[in-house]
Amino acid sequence: MPASRHPTVGIVLLALLAGAGCVSNEFDEAPIELACAVGIVRGHTQADVEQVARLAEKLDPLVKALVRPRQAAPLRIVVVPPHPRQPAEATCVFESGSHDVWVRSHIAIRTEPELARSYLLAHELVHWHADWAWDHLPIAVEEGMAELVAGQLHREQGAVRDALLGSLGKHVERDVQRMLEVERGTERSLDLRSHQMLYWVGKKVAKRIGVDRLRSWCEQAKADGLGQLPLDRFSTPH
Ligand SMILES: [Zn+2]
Repeated sequence: MPASRHPTVGIVLLALLAGAGCVSNEFDEAPIELACAVGIVRGHTQADVEQVARLAEKLDPLVKALVRPRQAAPLRIVVVPPHPRQPAEATCVFESGSHDVWVRSHIAIRTEPELARSYLLAHELVHWHADWAWDHLPIAVEEGMAELVAGQLHREQGAVRDALLGSLGKHVERDVQRMLEVERGTERSLDLRSHQMLYWVGKKVAKRIGVDRLRSWCEQAKADGLGQLPLDRFSTPH
């Protein structure tokens, strides 16, 4: 997928990436480190780490208030140049932990485009904090929730995203179903249009249902020991 001038954000399951080792080391290898109130920011220039640390301190409490994570691990963010194996402009990188649990490694924000950093960081913070029960959501709805929250915190940028995604044309019921059926970890293999459709459909669904109701569904599924929520929850109006 080519890099886009518009925010292209994604979630990375490292195990699925060939040669992902260099991506997983990008946090540790960045030479400049700054400890801030919400975690650690690393990067290659002092200006980058200071700017992103300020953004993180501002955005993190706002995102946590909406997502309500159970575990509040300190943030680990790195500001790095675009990576040839990772064209997305921002990613939340996960690593395999014990007992098949995915643990958050770090958030990577690319040095370009600088303009959308705050929006991109808000989106990735949703993935970072969507721990515990949130993986009962289809990936399209988690991505849509990240877009929804980032758009609420950055109205202007959210409107730009809506205009971009809206240019895909009116989606039909079969698009909704197809996007809801995309399995976690496979979304990166979608072509660009389908990837954008995933965000667009997910955002529509997340907006219609609302973050609070999505959370309550996920918590109930977790309590009941169920897997992913049934897709008809999302494809039919409630
Ligand atoms: Zn995302």
